[in-house]
Amino acid sequence: MDLCNLSVIKSLMSEAGITFRKEFGQNFLNNRMIPEEIAESCADTSDRLVIEIGPGVGCLTQELAMRFSRVVAIEIDKGLIPVLDKTLAEFDNVTVINADVMDIDLGELVEKYSDGKPVSVCANLPYYITTPILMRLLESGVKFDTITVMVQKEVAARLSAEPGSSDWGAITASIGFYGTVKRLFKVPAGCFVPAPKVDSAVVRIDLYKEPKYSPKDEKLFRALIKAAFEMRRKTLVNALSAKLPRYSREELCEAIVAIGHSETVRGERLSTEDFVKLSDLLAK
Ligand code: SAM
Repeated sequence: MDLCNLSVIKSLMSEAGITFRKEFGQNFLNNRMIPEEIAESCADTSDRLVIEIGPGVGCLTQELAMRFSRVVAIEIDKGLIPVLDKTLAEFDNVTVINADVMDIDLGELVEKYSDGKPVSVCANLPYYITTPILMRLLESGVKFDTITVMVQKEVAARLSAEPGSSDWGAITASIGFYGTVKRLFKVPAGCFVPAPKVDSAVVRIDLYKEPKYSPKDEKLFRALIKAAFEMRRKTLVNALSAKLPRYSREELCEAIVAIGHSETVRGERLSTEDFVKLSDLLAK
């Protein structure tokens, strides 16, 4: 059964009495090559747990199950569970959980299913909630090895941007704290049903094995990034003064100059490392 074939998808869904749910970002892949390519590039070794977010009817899940020792797929749409029971029946290494990934205890899930092996995430993400899902994964405290996700092309550009470029933003600076991002390949809108308005791209985040940065005050580090990019047209000192009034302009200017930037620099020029250094100087 080719789960990327439109008639197969439609008949599976009509048998289950369901239709595509826009509110869950349901744009399913209908090009066989794409799930193969995503699964192929999502991790370097096969003996691991792969967590999939949003399996849909299971096209990517099958490819993951054929390549990796254990797969846990988290699907929010209850209506898809009987479909997945059918399409994944032949794989005894797959567990489907009906839950919202934003609510699930990822630490507990990994503890239960990983057997101490490396853990990866692989997903064609629902676009309405891409950034919150990524931040939830990264801030969960789980030591993921890799996170490979399909996202809108513009989001992929942001995730893999260099400091100072117009695509560099709060999400890029935040992800740089956890690992490195590589843009893998583009996927045209026509490869999905229903077709979204924009093209997509797949990115892979390789997480640092050991933390690369250890800011004295992680909360302050995050607050600085948030403040810098919320008002990205302002100079960094103006943006920080507005959002973090507990620091005087003099203190802020002094710290910005001490990390090697000018007093008039904008936040978008600062790398992740710069934000760590700045937060260390400002930590009290
Ligand atoms: N993996 C399938 C594919 O590639 O064809 C479906 C991908 S579709 C873009 C996103 C999937 O995520 C849908 O199955 C949707 O129901 C599911 N989903 C949306 N929000 C979710 C959430 N918060 N938690 C878990 N799954 C979610």
